Amino acid sequence: QRQPLVIANWKMNGDRQLVTAMAEALRESAAQHADVSVVVCPPAVLLPAWQQAAFYDNIQLGAQDANEHVSGAHTGEHSLALLVESGASMVLVGHSERRQFYGDNAKRIAAKVNHTLNESNLTVVLCVGESAEEREQQQTFDVVAAQLQEALADCNNCERIVVAYEPVWAIGTGLTASPEQAQEVHAFIRNWLQEKFGPSGANVQVLYGGSVKADNAEQLFAQADIDGGLIGGASLIEEQFVAICNAAQ
Ligand code: 13P
Repeated sequence: QRQPLVIANWKMNGDRQLVTAMAEALRESAAQHADVSVVVCPPAVLLPAWQQAAFYDNIQLGAQDANEHVSGAHTGEHSLALLVESGASMVLVGHSERRQFYGDNAKRIAAKVNHTLNESNLTVVLCVGESAEEREQQQTFDVVAAQLQEALADCNNCERIVVAYEPVWAIGTGLTASPEQAQEVHAFIRNWLQEKFGPSGANVQVLYGGSVKADNAEQLFAQADIDGGLIGGASLIEEQFVAICNAAQ
């Protein structure tokens, strides 16, 4: 019932050449991941290049962040309207890098979620996850529940929500959560969503992110509550990303 979903988060990487190469690799392999929704979130200035490259293909585009205001004096920021015009149909909100380094606190994340859901048709990909220290102190569930609560408190509909569980200690470190560790948190998240939204909460796609590679994707995606992945480093390498999309099929 839940469609497998694989999202590439290019972060501050990639260029036009990679857009062409990756679009080509995804086009050639399309039959192998025909049942998988594939979304690419490049740096915003590359969205138009992706829009052209992916025009005939079943690839959706997303933004890595969006401002919580409609327009105005917000130097360096991107509005939802502009991202939509550039082809985006999803937006990542609350990525741990933005929480850690760019001032996205709980209040701002909630504002971004609400603004996106109320003022656009975009889907929100809400990123949550604990730090190494929080895991050691056995606070994983509390931290994840608090992040969900803070971000989704004002939402009463989960139709355009995707949740990505990204343990901070697994991002870019090569330390992947084991399939069992990830599944345990995913089941917790799904349960939380069901309590909050009722039966439709069980249909929210919950993705795993954090050092997903071609050689561990299949095991992770085989878990009952893991509906796909949010991929950083491996989404910049054609063979890796195609193999990960195939593993979600
Ligand atoms: P890596 O796949 O590079 O660990 O990054 C994960 C991530 O942060 C995706 O948003």
